[in-house]
Amino acid sequence: MILQSRAIWAGKGNLIADGAVRIRGKRIAEVGGRREMAPEAGEPVVDLGDSIIFPAFVNAHCHLDYSGLAGKLYRGTSFADWLAQIVLIKQSLTHDDHEAAWLSGADMLLSTGCGTVANIESVPGMYARMAPQTPLQVCPFIELIAYHSEDETAAVDLAQSELMANESLALKVGVSPHAPYTMTPEGLNALALFADEHLLPMSIHLAESNDEWDMFVHGAGPLYDTMSSLGRVMDDCGKGTPVQYLAKTAGFAKKSLVVHANRLSDADVEMLQRVGACVVHCPRSHAWFRHANFDYDRLAKAELNICIGTDSLASTNSETPVTGLNMFAEMQEFSQNHPQLSCEDMLQMATANGATALGLGGEIGVLKEGFIANMAVIPYRDSMSSVPEVIVQHSCAVAMLVIEGKRVFSGIDSIVD
Ligand SMILES: [Zn+2]
Repeated sequence: MILQSRAIWAGKGNLIADGAVRIRGKRIAEVGGRREMAPEAGEPVVDLGDSIIFPAFVNAHCHLDYSGLAGKLYRGTSFADWLAQIVLIKQSLTHDDHEAAWLSGADMLLSTGCGTVANIESVPGMYARMAPQTPLQVCPFIELIAYHSEDETAAVDLAQSELMANESLALKVGVSPHAPYTMTPEGLNALALFADEHLLPMSIHLAESNDEWDMFVHGAGPLYDTMSSLGRVMDDCGKGTPVQYLAKTAGFAKKSLVVHANRLSDADVEMLQRVGACVVHCPRSHAWFRHANFDYDRLAKAELNICIGTDSLASTNSETPVTGLNMFAEMQEFSQNHPQLSCEDMLQMATANGATALGLGGEIGVLKEGFIANMAVIPYRDSMSSVPEVIVQHSCAVAMLVIEGKRVFSGIDSIVD
């Protein structure tokens, strides 16, 4: 099948006017100008008219099963306060609540042009039940928490059993020690080793809040008090930054997605560079928490791979015009705080950079021959604006979404499967 449109943004630096994409099975067979792409005998051709085709988004960090929590938590006086709220709310949620939220989150992402998501799975066994129910390419990262030494073995065992259950269902499986403060040093080390042994990406919330900083740097503060009251051994605190702490435990995997990275010293940035970590920024969650400024320039200068994630709806403002999981809204929030950043760079972070972070750089995130055919379509009526700008500023649902060569939905009548 050939899809034709007025413009194709195939990836950074590759804008095609009057373009066409040829799809064969699950993959892209060709991308180019529509005049150069003659249909083969019997090949369907669909002209999408005044539209832009671009790679479906790769959301580098999400918690789909918290999608029912929009507006349910208040910001509180500290990050530790918010954590306490979510722990309490989670105890009141049933399996059905988690599953319904997971699916509704997946629908939100699909309708707004996302094809692939790195999702933190907090309920063991749930991914295998949910994956067949959505066309979204969900890459499950099992969330692991063990701040008592007797729980370390169970965490590694859980990582192992989830890997075996999910490997055949997912494009990519990962592990996620939740954060340095919710794992023992030995647990962090064991999970990094596990990830490397199985060639898996590892995702960890790191250097997110001032509370986390105070716990590791000063051995004090609300998070220190909370974790201490839960019985975590705190003698590893007061000795360095969160990044230094993770490095000391040898807790970085060869492929680490560092989520948030809001508060970093210069030495931390060098460390992230040295271990080849990717950084995931979640702009709306960041704004809601009023975290310290995300230092994009410093990280970009260090040539770190920076990606965009939505995080969860438990940490977004439910009173803004866009309330759901939505990569367009994330880019728009990001661009408000970083007006110097080009729309192409922003799009790159929301597509190819996320793919690279997941170890899927040769498969998704770009429209290119041989890649999986994941693409979104939006209208392009404004002749004055540039194509990347129109994509970044798009609001609401996309007109069409294709995942693995199949139309997930389409508001365009002329399309038939
Ligand atoms: Zn998160």
